[in-house]
Amino acid sequence: MWLGTSSPLTIVCECLGINDIVMKKYLVHNQTKTVKRYRDGRIIFFSYDDFLNKIVKGNCCFICGVESSLKAFNNEHVIPNWILKYYGTQDSFMILPNDTTIKNSIYKVPCCCECNNELGKILEIPMSNLLRKTYEEVCCELDKDNSLYHKIFHWACLLVFKTHLKDSFLSKNRDKRSDSGTIGDDYCWHQLFRIHNIVRHHHTNAIVEPNVFGTVIVLEALIETKNEDFGYLDNLNSETVLIKVGKIVVICVLNDSKACLSCYQTFLSNITGSLASIQIRELFARIRYVNENLKNRPDFYFMFRNGQFRIGAKRPDKIELLKGAHEKVSLGKLMRYYIEPLISNSLIGKDEIVLGLEKENIQCIFDEQCKFKQQESYNEINNFPVSQLSVDFP
Ligand SMILES: [Zn+2]
Repeated sequence: MWLGTSSPLTIVCECLGINDIVMKKYLVHNQTKTVKRYRDGRIIFFSYDDFLNKIVKGNCCFICGVESSLKAFNNEHVIPNWILKYYGTQDSFMILPNDTTIKNSIYKVPCCCECNNELGKILEIPMSNLLRKTYEEVCCELDKDNSLYHKIFHWACLLVFKTHLKDSFLSKNRDKRSDSGTIGDDYCWHQLFRIHNIVRHHHTNAIVEPNVFGTVIVLEALIETKNEDFGYLDNLNSETVLIKVGKIVVICVLNDSKACLSCYQTFLSNITGSLASIQIRELFARIRYVNENLKNRPDFYFMFRNGQFRIGAKRPDKIELLKGAHEKVSLGKLMRYYIEPLISNSLIGKDEIVLGLEKENIQCIFDEQCKFKQQESYNEINNFPVSQLSVDFP
């Protein structure tokens, strides 16, 4: 997992709040303002304080909010079990923001058995069935059923949420003698509060309005290693996440109401082959760049209307990007940040390549004629496969 940037927080959740509580159907807690369903007590909406106390700092099930002493718990793997089974080993691990590692077998968040089963049925089984198909088959499924994009988005929200929730249990300093707080202490939990509501919408029966769904990009990855693998990279500030499952690459933006997709439609349609790791990183940098530099952002809100809990978003009228001195972060800096770790230190000319990336002179996805550059496996080539920049940045 990647985390940490000095750029300003880009989340906009100014409309957090509940309007129009329908008292006949729901109970609102006098002090906490958490909303429960009258008929069975199910928590439909955690107030922000309850979310912090029960889910982030407490040990309650992250879906239904029940305490572990009141129900059977089996906890939920942060990296889904089916991924560990097909692409990992018991010893595979995750790199944490404090540069330490944690074994995937113990990388879990509190979850009751009932909610865990429900998540399996609603998300993990459909996702494992979809993402283990060939790329052509995945495209076919997506063409047949557009709602699968929503399922992928929901699943991406779940992965991002679990990853960050787990960090609220992990010490910044793994030396237990030091009391340095948890990794999660540095997060903006308002963002994760919105994501949490999307994650559990299957449980609350919330209507997620179309504008809430963000950019979802599904592409084919070049297989560069002996075995197909799993990869995960995210950036919380820009709410951009990359998930690679074998041959399938998914990039999602959780808070853009598809603005990045609109900006990158033509660019994406020119990708006509399978992407090598450096190209996947370039695309991630580009999407993050657009999202961080949107001049006007969607406003997200929660509301109860006609007895129904809804999660909505108001999109800005037009998409504009901050440019020049107003840019929050430059594309070149992001390209360098994400691609440099993949360049071998022994590569002759590494310094020039890194500088070229930062100055936005070179790129990896397209060649000089704007044609997709089908790479050989990066591991097998001697030269770093970059070309002079010939495509205008958005
Ligand atoms: Zn539960």
